[in-house]
Amino acid sequence: MMETLLLNDSESSLAKAAQLIKNGGLVGIPTETVYGLGADASNEEAVRSIFAAKGRPADNPLIVHLACFADAEKYTAVIPKLAYRLAERFCPGPLTIILPKNERIPYVTSGGLDTVGIRIPAHPVMRRIIELSGCPIAAPSANTSGYPSPTAAEHVMTDMNGRIAAVVDGGQSEFGVESTVIAIENENTVRILRPGCVTAEQLREVCENVIIDKAILNELGKNETAASPGMKYKHYSPNADVVLIDAELDRFTEYVRENNGDKVYSLIFDGDAEGFPFRYLTYGADDYEQAHNVFQRLRELDELGAEKVFVRAPSKDGVGLAVYNRLIRAAGFEVIRI
Ligand code: AMP
Ligand code: MG
Repeated sequence: MMETLLLNDSESSLAKAAQLIKNGGLVGIPTETVYGLGADASNEEAVRSIFAAKGRPADNPLIVHLACFADAEKYTAVIPKLAYRLAERFCPGPLTIILPKNERIPYVTSGGLDTVGIRIPAHPVMRRIIELSGCPIAAPSANTSGYPSPTAAEHVMTDMNGRIAAVVDGGQSEFGVESTVIAIENENTVRILRPGCVTAEQLREVCENVIIDKAILNELGKNETAASPGMKYKHYSPNADVVLIDAELDRFTEYVRENNGDKVYSLIFDGDAEGFPFRYLTYGADDYEQAHNVFQRLRELDELGAEKVFVRAPSKDGVGLAVYNRLIRAAGFEVIRI
């Protein structure tokens, strides 16, 4: 166990965080998506300690965060023209582009793959730490593997206190779900491997064909390989048993009535709350709000001692697809359609 420093976002604190990373340490860092657990992506030992701190399977690759997309040339073998067009429109921001890696990215970082996910974060704290450290920063979400991602410094402290050098408090994450991860299939086709706040609709403004990988909404079969290794693991789950219910409010309410119990909670839309007769929390009125709140609420439900949570399923449009993707995994693919 080590003492985990809680740093603020002053220039001297960010310099301290950058120094810890340069020296091979792990730092919890705010980004516009969720909090990341950052280390020098080119330092194998530091990267190994990320996997150890999270309990993350070694074949689940890490995203590498850079200050600008031009820096991707230092860590990749080739960059298709489409990647530059996407970067021009969406970087900095919540988009990760999978590219062939070069030898400067060790295989521990890429989970043994010949590719690397590159993201240019927009959050000023993450950007400043990248600049001050001069390192490419490998950063998965800063939660215990399998648990809901952290969207506030205190979530990182809950999961990582004593295991990492520091956490920088940069307030609540704006988007609240992880980046959209895409692979480039050819000059006019991308495949979404993980949905996020850069939506399929937005990607279509730059790229003719946008394929939504089937693993986003469906459980992979035993013999199927995941294009995105993270997709095959149980993910985002609180201690409570989550059941996703895809139904209109009246049927949802009926289902809860029939299956209610002592430590049962519902997670519903803001507009559902008036007159809702059972224990509940709300998670927003639209897809952006639901993304912003979803992980925070799952953590709160654990704090409340919930044993079962019935979640009213979000829409699958726009950012809703990202929220649905997280919830269906939190539910271990237990979805009730009524
Ligand atoms: P997290 O670090 O928790 O945000 O998870 C990052 C996710 O990005 C992983 O679970 C992978 O699914 C995906 N990812 C990262 N790098 C690659 C890659 N080289 N190829 C495919 N997927 C990747
Ligand atoms: Mg994660």
